[in-house]
Amino acid sequence: ATPMAMVVASGRGARGGIFLKGHHALETSRRVDTVVLDKTGTLTTGRMAVVSVLGHSPDLVLARAAAVERGSEHAIATAVVAHGPGDVPAPVDFVALPGLGARAVVDGAEVTVGRPDLFEVGVPSDLRAAWDDAEAAGHTVVAVGWDGVVHGAVVLADDVKASAAPAVAALRAAGLHPVLLTGDHERAARTVAAAVGIDDVVAGVLPEGKLAVLAERRAAGAVVAMVGDGINDGPALAAADLGLAVGTGTDVALEAADVILVRDDLTAVPEALALARATHRTIR
Ligand code: ADP
Ligand code: MG
Repeated sequence: ATPMAMVVASGRGARGGIFLKGHHALETSRRVDTVVLDKTGTLTTGRMAVVSVLGHSPDLVLARAAAVERGSEHAIATAVVAHGPGDVPAPVDFVALPGLGARAVVDGAEVTVGRPDLFEVGVPSDLRAAWDDAEAAGHTVVAVGWDGVVHGAVVLADDVKASAAPAVAALRAAGLHPVLLTGDHERAARTVAAAVGIDDVVAGVLPEGKLAVLAERRAAGAVVAMVGDGINDGPALAAADLGLAVGTGTDVALEAADVILVRDDLTAVPEALALARATHRTIR
């Protein structure tokens, strides 16, 4: 292709909020056969809401979780802070644990919020039943603990985007294989996958695990597009053959992506890939 191809792609794409960054994006978009989609903030709205708080002292669990999450930009953090008391203290020594959770000192205690495997002890048996019920409902459950013990959990819900199922259907119609990839647990992932029409699900993976999954698919001969939005998606967008940043992408995601989709509408994904193919045909 020539620089002319980029002008055409950008000109037509710009009206639909589709921007292909350079020659590589155009060429690779034509060859993609597998489209990996992040769950939180990509297939779902990412506007999470707290459903319930588990534990013997739910008010304390929520207040401490909210104090830690004041330091985080994750969708989970935004929801926990919004649901928490209005007067939570600022976290001290805040540490973000990408794909895992967050940690900070609150009221002199080191408080951790996130995946239960951040705690050596695991989920206490008296929380287990409520925890399992919440996961079975497709909710995201994050552990809250201090002094090395899980004291409770926050249960969060997130809506699937209205555009997700039509986008997946359009990908399939174009002969592309959709995959859902997430750091969330298997049950929440399966619930979302079923709602949007995806059967290839990889769940419970850490950020490095996401990169390994992309590398495996590529090693098996697939040409892989990765669709994401979030703060943790930058490395995965860069590790795919083609990275697509959707909607309110963060700076990191925008920088790592080859294709920027400005609209918070997932049907822009099959549209962008189709546009690249059509542009190539026009130019040749
Ligand atoms: P996804 O793959 O769905 O985009 P992430 O990789 O961002 O999710 O996070 C994976 C999991 O790590 C979340 O489901 C949650 O359990 C935990 N997690 C990540 N960041 C946070 C945070 N700031 N607070 C609590 N839990 C978090
Ligand atoms: Mg995400």
